[in-house]
Amino acid sequence: MTFSELADEVLYLDFNATTPMDTRVLDAMDPYLRSAYGNAASTHAAGARALQAVELARSDIADLIRARAQDVVFTSGATESNNLALAGAIVSRSGHVVSVRTEHKSVLDPLQHLARSGGVDVTLLEPNEYGVVRPDDVRDALRPNTILVSVMAANNEVGSLSDIDAIGRLCSEHGAIFHCDAAQLVGKLPIDVGRARIDLLSISAHKMYGPKGVGALYVRRGTSIEPIIRGGGHERGLRSGTLNVPAIVGFGAAGSIARSEMGRDAEHCERLRAILLARLTDLFPGVEVNGHPTERLPGTLNVRLPGINADSLQLAAPRVAVSSGSACTSATPEPSHVLLAMGRSWEAAHESIRFGVGRQTTEAEVLAAVEGLHEAAMRLDATDYPVMKR
Ligand code: PMP
Repeated sequence: MTFSELADEVLYLDFNATTPMDTRVLDAMDPYLRSAYGNAASTHAAGARALQAVELARSDIADLIRARAQDVVFTSGATESNNLALAGAIVSRSGHVVSVRTEHKSVLDPLQHLARSGGVDVTLLEPNEYGVVRPDDVRDALRPNTILVSVMAANNEVGSLSDIDAIGRLCSEHGAIFHCDAAQLVGKLPIDVGRARIDLLSISAHKMYGPKGVGALYVRRGTSIEPIIRGGGHERGLRSGTLNVPAIVGFGAAGSIARSEMGRDAEHCERLRAILLARLTDLFPGVEVNGHPTERLPGTLNVRLPGINADSLQLAAPRVAVSSGSACTSATPEPSHVLLAMGRSWEAAHESIRFGVGRQTTEAEVLAAVEGLHEAAMRLDATDYPVMKR
């Protein structure tokens, strides 16, 4: 089924949860799923062909973040990259770690685990009203024994962008390792690990039109971390396990496409997001935007629709794929930890929806999705929510 056939079934506006693969990515992967099946660690010709493809992908990902190819370690995705970065950097050190309440669970959970197992003391900073930390707050939290600071580049729920250049400068002056979860930003906006003085950077392929189950951790030369998966010594000993060659090839292709099309994608997303917000404002009363008004990912729009429970709305409009809270935490009934940390009430958090548009989204889909949600809200209105405009 192509994306447009799928779109007949579902109006997919959940690009922060995952993106559809670009068909050019699929084409690049195809030979490695069919005929070029060698193990990249084998010394024969089939292995050499696979290895060559892996190394090309490594350069493509390195170019995207302006790094050296040798510093890119392939993983199964940003969850693993975050775990490797944190556990790997902290395991052989003791001291203090700084992070933020609005980080993804794949940062917060490992930090909680590391704190419980006694190695480190963790300070979790409060974000500002837009969901990002102030660099001054990071500076004030640094202690003589701070070994690592972990701050995400772009928030997955509201899209707000952190000032990573400023935070990187502080870490470098202090001598602390700077880990940045850039799963939502890489491939959407430019990032330069040198300029931002990032030591460890987590990336995920399926957020940038690549396949699921593959990602990378950038490890700056000289930053010593321990592996969490040991075995055959693949990936410079930092991540053992036979490389998933087709997925890595797809990731590389997605990276190279993103590098050349990022500007066009961003313009397209910003235009659609403006249409989306305008139409929502037309049809729903009192729409409030969650997240920074300008310093935000181009395709992300998180809004509160006052008086409308987001979960009920989603259930009433199953064809419209949006997210109430983060897809990764939607198994829990509590409202988004990000919105609560931003100072939103429980009520406001329960009334908030995240829209994510992307490269393949059309204006017609955006308009149809808002219509679909409005129709559903009118139906709910007849029962629970007496606040609709019409
Ligand atoms: N960090 C952030 C900011 C994310 O949005 C996600 C995906 N929800 C992850 C980490 C985890 O990435 P993956 O799905 O590749 O494990």
